[in-house]
Amino acid sequence: MHVDLLEFLSCVRPHEPSWLVASVDLIEERDIVSGRLGCPTCGTEYLIGDGVADFRIDAAHRMGSGPPGFHDATNANPQGNSDLALRAAALLDLTTPGGFVLLAGSWSVAGFELVALLDGVHALVLNPATHVASGYGVSVVLSSNGVPVREGTSRGAALDAMHSTPEWIARTAAAVRAHGRIVAPADAQIPPELSLLARDSRNWVAETTRATASIVQIARGRPANA
Ligand SMILES: [Zn+2]
Repeated sequence: MHVDLLEFLSCVRPHEPSWLVASVDLIEERDIVSGRLGCPTCGTEYLIGDGVADFRIDAAHRMGSGPPGFHDATNANPQGNSDLALRAAALLDLTTPGGFVLLAGSWSVAGFELVALLDGVHALVLNPATHVASGYGVSVVLSSNGVPVREGTSRGAALDAMHSTPEWIARTAAAVRAHGRIVAPADAQIPPELSLLARDSRNWVAETTRATASIVQIARGRPANA
């Protein structure tokens, strides 16, 4: 978990948005390899082990239980990952530097290639389908109950089929900044808070419309001759 991403993380428990306090046991370069993230609001502690922050509810409070487990399948398709990274960069329109993008499930394998293509953009990998190591611009989080990211902070998100239920899409839309893009499988339902930009046989691309809505409301609330 890269230290630059700490300010964007959020507790996944149902309460008012809360930042997390990091307690570091081991740090390499600027990646926290082991430590804990504590929520000052509800007191939940989430472990970081092997660089992976574990927000799964059943994993919280499991103090000292070691790193979370993965399916340890090695990713043996670098060419496929490059293609996937190029596709993610294009669909998410990541042409400017900085910030971070969410890559959920099977998109996770493109994390390193995507970061290498871009200028100072972090990849926050959520529930990787196969083993993805944390570090070098890629940070890994596990979560069964929400996107552990503060509202409106992610530049965009690419979701696989596992993360394209209405619940995951709604949680992801909340995490993505205004006019940020979300990519999901072509057959996933598009919620009203997203506006469709493009669709092909594999994916749709939509952007969040939240800020537009609030600007309209403010404009409407203004007195007519102000
Ligand atoms: Zn909390």
